[in-house]
Amino acid sequence: TIRTRFAPSPTGYLHVGGARTALFSWLYARKHGGTFILRIEDTDLERSTAESVDAILQGMTWLGLEYDEGPFFQTHRFPRYKEVIRQMLKEGQAYHCYCSKERLEQLRAEQMARKEKPRYDGKCRHGVSNPPTDASPVVRFKNPLDGVVVVEDLVRGRVIFQNSELDDLIIARGDGSPTYNFTVVVDDMDMKITHVIRGDDHLNNTPRQMNMLKALNYAPPVYAHVPMILGPDGARLSKRHGAVSVMQYRDDGYLPEALLNYLARLGWSHGDQEVFSIDEMIKLFDVTNVHSSAAAFNPEKLMWLNQHYIKSSDPRHVAHHLSHHLGKLGIDPATGPDPVEVVTAQRERAKTLAEMAQNSLFFYRDFEQYEAKDAAAHLKPEAGKPLTELRARLAALPQWEAAAIHAAVAGVAEAEGLKLGKIAQPLRVAVAGRAVSPPIDVTLTLLGREKTLERLDAALE
Ligand code: GLU
Repeated sequence: TIRTRFAPSPTGYLHVGGARTALFSWLYARKHGGTFILRIEDTDLERSTAESVDAILQGMTWLGLEYDEGPFFQTHRFPRYKEVIRQMLKEGQAYHCYCSKERLEQLRAEQMARKEKPRYDGKCRHGVSNPPTDASPVVRFKNPLDGVVVVEDLVRGRVIFQNSELDDLIIARGDGSPTYNFTVVVDDMDMKITHVIRGDDHLNNTPRQMNMLKALNYAPPVYAHVPMILGPDGARLSKRHGAVSVMQYRDDGYLPEALLNYLARLGWSHGDQEVFSIDEMIKLFDVTNVHSSAAAFNPEKLMWLNQHYIKSSDPRHVAHHLSHHLGKLGIDPATGPDPVEVVTAQRERAKTLAEMAQNSLFFYRDFEQYEAKDAAAHLKPEAGKPLTELRARLAALPQWEAAAIHAAVAGVAEAEGLKLGKIAQPLRVAVAGRAVSPPIDVTLTLLGREKTLERLDAALE
């Protein structure tokens, strides 16, 4: 059965590049009824933080990329890594290296001077006759000296590496702590990973990892190295292109499915289809169709998808996310209309949920002042008479519902010989503080009679 993993290093937030590899691994597992594993690669103690672990878990949860096993932490697995190192030493697949830093630096300088690629020369590979007793040697893997490593990469195609280009990798430092490439190997083996989907910045690690896996008698997984994401200007996507953290997208008012859809389409296509539900992605996504060239991040397209999902998703689902944004603005949704109805009223005109929350504040909280230009344009003295008349009619309505409210507004317009807008706009500014809101009957229905009359009174003062 298929087993994939996402293996982030907890040195920052979950960024869109990581989220995309996580999504691809998750989709691959889901598509094949396999298992998706979360592994936290936290062996770099200086750079790994607990906050980053939380941020990654939070990002995964918000995206809905639920894992079947884990999270596993590499720092909890040191005894296991040491055990494998001992075993490899015993079986002659690894050896102690006593070369001093000075010797290695000198070697490197000489190789550079000869324009060679710096690599360890294997001095200690065949044993050291008088090992210093007070030294703390590193452990190196005995990489094959010749032959090739063939990576049949699902994205890149066949990539061939010469063993003569690879040197004997350090797998344990002088203090006994395992190194990065080694812990990945032990984990991929122990976790029985069948497919490794990761960023192509790891492609050069792959032949070394495959050699170690073979030495450990484990058939290497299938690899798929996905290209990095570029900013719109063609440089590697980074903070200066705007938001790169998944949770920043939540805070900016994106729906998780919009981001997932966008990330899935980034460097992958299925005909010219742009919109994919999660189920469709699971059905149609195929990592072998991921393009091998880097993909450019397009914020407008993500925004377009977000708008699409705001408009077309179940309003209850959108409302759940809207409530989060209202909460961030200090609003308790219980103090006003049901957010589900607010979504239904506002969904056509919001690009993000942050914007929708902003535009819906007036349903829940009195505004401090009118939008100056809207008040100047619509709350003019001549609006006083029709608004007073309307207030009386609204106060007397037997039922507070849209049809009756509409009839009251239309009735006043007719009695006063005004176009509907001449009364609806002043009314809108009076109750919403601005000249943009859902249709006026919907706006008043949601706002409720009490707040409507209070605000009309304030406008008429
Ligand atoms: N921990 C690595 C990273 O965050 C991923 C390694 C892998 O997927 O093999 O880049």
